[in-house]
Amino acid sequence: MLNSYKENIIIVGAGLAGCLLAIYLGRRGLSVKLFEKRPDMRSHEIPAGRSINLSLSARGIHALNEVELMPKIEPHLVAMPGRMLHRRSGELQFQPYGKNPSDLHYSVSRGALNKILLDAAEGSGNVSLYFDQDCQEIDSSAQTISFKSSTTESVRSMGFDTVIGTDGAGSAVCRALVKAGAIEFHHEPLAHGYKELTIPGDANGEHRIEKNALHIWPRGGYMLIALPNTDGSFTVTLFLPYQGPTSFASLSDESAVFEFFREQFPDAIQLIPNLVSEFFNNQTGELGTIRCSPWNAGGNLLILGDAAHAVVPFHGQGMNCAFEDCSEFNRCMDFYNDWEALFSAVDRNRRPNANAIADMALENYIEMRDSVRDPKFHLYKQIEWLLEERHPDRFIPRYSMVMFHRIPYAEVQRRGVIQSEILAELSCKAETFEDVDIDLADRQVCHKLEPIKNEPQ
Ligand code: FAD
Repeated sequence: MLNSYKENIIIVGAGLAGCLLAIYLGRRGLSVKLFEKRPDMRSHEIPAGRSINLSLSARGIHALNEVELMPKIEPHLVAMPGRMLHRRSGELQFQPYGKNPSDLHYSVSRGALNKILLDAAEGSGNVSLYFDQDCQEIDSSAQTISFKSSTTESVRSMGFDTVIGTDGAGSAVCRALVKAGAIEFHHEPLAHGYKELTIPGDANGEHRIEKNALHIWPRGGYMLIALPNTDGSFTVTLFLPYQGPTSFASLSDESAVFEFFREQFPDAIQLIPNLVSEFFNNQTGELGTIRCSPWNAGGNLLILGDAAHAVVPFHGQGMNCAFEDCSEFNRCMDFYNDWEALFSAVDRNRRPNANAIADMALENYIEMRDSVRDPKFHLYKQIEWLLEERHPDRFIPRYSMVMFHRIPYAEVQRRGVIQSEILAELSCKAETFEDVDIDLADRQVCHKLEPIKNEPQ
């Protein structure tokens, strides 16, 4: 057990992953210094960072349960048991995610969640928080790290035994590892960016469209989505290419924005009263995939969360995956008694899974913005549900495996390929659900898919 180690542990980045990891370590009696470049969000009005709200699902919930924080988080959740599709005609279609009542995920405010995690880290008694501390340099051979205060501009250097970088995409710790030649870094930017807008609540603070759904306006090459907040509002996100005929570049003035929304999202335009000011004042966010290999340099430095594996947000899994990293780190602590063995195990166990969710998140962009409109998509979903009902131990739709289960992502990806082949064969021979050859379906599932064994309990 690592609890016998009295080491100088530094975590860089008090975002979602950094706080959670500090809580796990603090609960084990290890003392941790947690450095954050921004001011303390509990006492300063500062934006919590990228998206305003997030989808929280099984993997994230599991980790938050492990540190007994779910009761504190529950008041900040809005359940989303399905998608609400908004057609250009204004027609609405609710698509439940599954037949099981547990097949749902939750919208949660990033700020509220981060504040709860900060409180819990501090409350553990073993975590010291340092704000306004921007990590500048790490010398891995001399084992020194420096931070610059954003208020006083002063720089302080200190020695370390162990640094864990949870400082998000653009991580300073990751940069230091690359500079030292310890890891390979690959960044794949997406040609689409995002813009956040708001649907405010009504005069009574109630939601003006269905509260319990993830709303999607799928339009082929781009889409609009909206996630509910507890105060009656929705955070709306437009995902759009940067360049091209319909792009952020083409929406260069007020009338172009109005015309675009009037044409493409006619039922949304009336719900977003500050469309133009938000469109031009809110920055266009960048998206991309980061893959690093390995995630550690011996037992001195490790990166986790977005610092090691930023993914595009189309499966709502970046934070959930980062939380699963922390949970796995904590689990591995029971089996290894030195940092190097621990860090290597975390890298070995998590990297293939992070790569798998990175791939699946990219694929899900196509599904969200395009496939959900395809009539064959509904036949696929019906067949998936049928197969899940008949073979619950072997067939679970891939979306559900990612969102509502904790089957390792790499295993989800592997099974997903086989399931797609089965679905393609069954649906190419069927025009409607009634045409599906059930005997063939049963044979295919039993022959090609072994029972699911490795879902952690
Ligand atoms: P972050 O949350 O980015 O935290 C990093 C922290 O490090 C920050 O506090 C930052 O200020 C600090 N920091 C940075 N640099 C330094 C430095 N040099 N020194 C000190 N501190 C530093 N995930 C989901 O699970 N569900 C979703 O629905 C979802 N939706 C998303 C929507 C959008 C538009 C985007 C962009 C992302 C979304 N994600 C979602 C992904 C999610 O935001 C990230 O995966 C998650 O925030 C990762 O947590 P983290 O702690 O690793 O990094």
